[in-house]
Amino acid sequence: MTDFTATKKQFALPDGAVYLDGNSLGPLPKTAVARVEKTMREEWGRLAISGWNRAGWFDMPRRVGDRIARLIGAEPGHVVMGDTLSIKVYQALASALEMNPGRKVILSDTGNFPSDLYMAQGLAATLGSGYRLKTVAPEAVADALDESVAVLLLTEVDYRTGRKHDMAALTRAAHDLGILTVWDLAHSAGALPVDLAGARADFAVGCTYKYLNSGPGAPAFIYVAPRHAEKARPALSGWLGHEAPFAFDPDYRPGRGIDRMRVGTPPILQLAALDASMDIWDTVDMHDLREKSIVLCDQFIAGIEASCPQLRLASPRDGRQRGSQVSFHFEHGFAAMQATIAAGVTGDFRAPDIMRFGFTPLYIDEDDVARAVAIIAGVMANETWKEPRFQTRAAVT
Ligand SMILES: *Cc1c(COP(=O)(O)O)cnc(C)c1O
Repeated sequence: MTDFTATKKQFALPDGAVYLDGNSLGPLPKTAVARVEKTMREEWGRLAISGWNRAGWFDMPRRVGDRIARLIGAEPGHVVMGDTLSIKVYQALASALEMNPGRKVILSDTGNFPSDLYMAQGLAATLGSGYRLKTVAPEAVADALDESVAVLLLTEVDYRTGRKHDMAALTRAAHDLGILTVWDLAHSAGALPVDLAGARADFAVGCTYKYLNSGPGAPAFIYVAPRHAEKARPALSGWLGHEAPFAFDPDYRPGRGIDRMRVGTPPILQLAALDASMDIWDTVDMHDLREKSIVLCDQFIAGIEASCPQLRLASPRDGRQRGSQVSFHFEHGFAAMQATIAAGVTGDFRAPDIMRFGFTPLYIDEDDVARAVAIIAGVMANETWKEPRFQTRAAVT
């Protein structure tokens, strides 16, 4: 059994607040501070350039990728770290499209995160010659699969509603029609068990600063199924994805397997923070995590529905159909979230009217949920959100 009391002690949490925003930016694992300091002082400080070899920096994107592989059901040796998630979406999509010549449609859903859709639109524009992105409602994806579709690009868990696609079933249906799949695990990795190998997913990508707690700006990951690993051509052919980067060959030759998905110099300090976070993840059983996440989310839904009639559930009621977040519709959601944060519960707002709360068993427990419900009930009952100070919007909501 995973000891969630022990994992909670390993995070620096904002004083006195209930932090229900780990789905946007995970909190600081306490050991990450010493780990990054060690990388700076003992590796960068003492070794300088030789750190690439002597401190293992060069292999870090693969080594840390393997630690994430366990959480997402990927075969070892087929996940690599680097760049941001938007870049990894572009890379996976470009490779997948090229592997399905003759078809021009990228199919996604209207609930997908805008950056994924923007990347697909940008890539289609660059490719020209009829390539296009088609989006349908999340519930309509299965019916929209047909032989014009080259690639199905989906985020497994909807960032707004928390609705979860059935990855195995959709991947099977896609493959039956000759469609390749790119799964975005931004709200899955570290939120619920994922079985990429079992689902026979073709490509997958995800970020690490959300549920994986690696800090702002930490690198993303990319997975390519072993059966495609030596065939996928990387559209972003950077020198570190070359077969022999230090041969300084003027012509590009892709590296072996997943190494070809590397682009440029990896962010070592941020990888050190992620590596420290993965020490905590090594103590976590994903099935224990899933069970507790559903308990916490159900407790929150029951508490809010009993005390806040103004809020309307936007997430699936059945825990198995959800990721690890719960969202409510409220017309004055932006101001209400500002008031909620001021009262000691950190969640976030997603336009047009969604108040979103993430539940992360690593550091959130039943007492926190009870406290959050009581605070939100107070904000709603007293209508404190009507105060002028809660109406102004900062750059990041
Ligand atoms: C958070 C998120 C992103 C963010 O991409 P970055 O390039 O890391 O800023 C992209 N896609 C999805 C589905 C997300 O949830």
